[in-house]
Amino acid sequence: MERVVIVGAGQAGLQVAVSLRQGGFAGSITLVGDEDRLPYQRPPLSKAYLQEDFGFERLALRPDAFFADQRIEVLANDPAVRLDRPTQRVSLRSGRALPYDRLALATGARNRRLAVDGADLAGVHMLRGAADAEVLRTELGRAERLLVIGGGFIGLEVAASARGRGLAVTVLEAGPRLMGRVVSPPVSDFFLAAHRAMGTTVLLDQRVLRLTGTARVEGVETAAGFHAADLVLVAVGVEPRDELAQAAGLDCAGGIRVDRFMVTSDPAIFAIGDCAVFESRHARGPVRLESVQNAVDQAKCVASVLLGEARPYDSVPWFWSDQGGLKLQIAGLTAGADHVHVADGGDGRLVAYSFRGDDFLGIETVNRPGEHMAGRRLLAADFRLARDEVARHDFDLKTHLA
Ligand code: FAD
Repeated sequence: MERVVIVGAGQAGLQVAVSLRQGGFAGSITLVGDEDRLPYQRPPLSKAYLQEDFGFERLALRPDAFFADQRIEVLANDPAVRLDRPTQRVSLRSGRALPYDRLALATGARNRRLAVDGADLAGVHMLRGAADAEVLRTELGRAERLLVIGGGFIGLEVAASARGRGLAVTVLEAGPRLMGRVVSPPVSDFFLAAHRAMGTTVLLDQRVLRLTGTARVEGVETAAGFHAADLVLVAVGVEPRDELAQAAGLDCAGGIRVDRFMVTSDPAIFAIGDCAVFESRHARGPVRLESVQNAVDQAKCVASVLLGEARPYDSVPWFWSDQGGLKLQIAGLTAGADHVHVADGGDGRLVAYSFRGDDFLGIETVNRPGEHMAGRRLLAADFRLARDEVARHDFDLKTHLA
């Protein structure tokens, strides 16, 4: 096996290349990207990068010289447009065709569009890449009223950043609570209060009918009323970029389906990161996760297979989101919990334990990094944690594990 081609020069794609070289892989590695830059981190794009003085060089995942030193060929701004599985070739937009022995698809996700009139007006933005963040950052410097459609991680992070820059901010969420897909109800309530305390207007159960304006957006009409805005961010979730895989006949269902080793329905092709759907012992049924942890650990799994020391992907899922001065951290997958025990320090910090029946699903913390790390260790070790134990007033997770 000599030629590894990776489609998608993001968090997961880069990590495959890095881990292969670290493991002594001597063959050729080609990283195919559709952006005009070397691989960079996305998390700061909705946070620190939206402040005026944050340089792009601070986002780089590796310095420029790394790629030549490590003999990793990066083909930027030249997306893969077709996979030919019988001949094991990837065709690029430029017309170039790359033969591969093993291929990794790390194509990430794209933003879901808002299917209403006015969604294409000037002043209406979405955020996925550095180019989007640069435009949004400039616009934040000129605008007075930001309206965010979608109260998920990214919408709320941008809302907090914009409040930090002094804009008036309104968040419209379609569901009955914030971040409803990923956090437990008490954590949603905590962040609702926190954003309101930051001065943001947050409205739940909102149905957006249209965006209005002539040349540029002037406001958003909902089923309940009208909200003026001179800048709008649409952050209503993402969908996997699995179009290449689908066109090539790979098994896809809400993403590219993979086994425990990240192998797709074609044994020569892997899929990892935001575009991949897999079975996790931490979930019931197949999941597709959008996080740096998931992208990096799945990439390491692929490298382990290619290096002949295959280790199945079995990491504890973990996430973070920085909103204003609040660091939310989640260990495990807490969706589907039927009981949540909240230990609230009452000092703007929080720890919430989620259970389904007697099974401990995960822990959510705000500004409690010690408990987050302890929760990750607990889940990795399949350590049992009982509901009545965490409810005891003197329960301390860190000493419990010691
Ligand atoms: P990506 O990093 O998105 O990389 C995929 C790459 O593939 C992209 O460059 C894409 O353009 C490219 N591509 C797609 N199709 C093709 C093609 N046909 N040919 C060539 N290239 C192609 N996660 C956290 O854990 N914590 C956070 O705080 C956090 N904050 C975030 C904030 C923002 C604004 C965003 C957008 C994401 C955030 N995430 C966060 C999510 C995290 O960044 C992603 O889960 C992670 O980047 C996924 O890695 P990936 O390699 O699967 O996809």
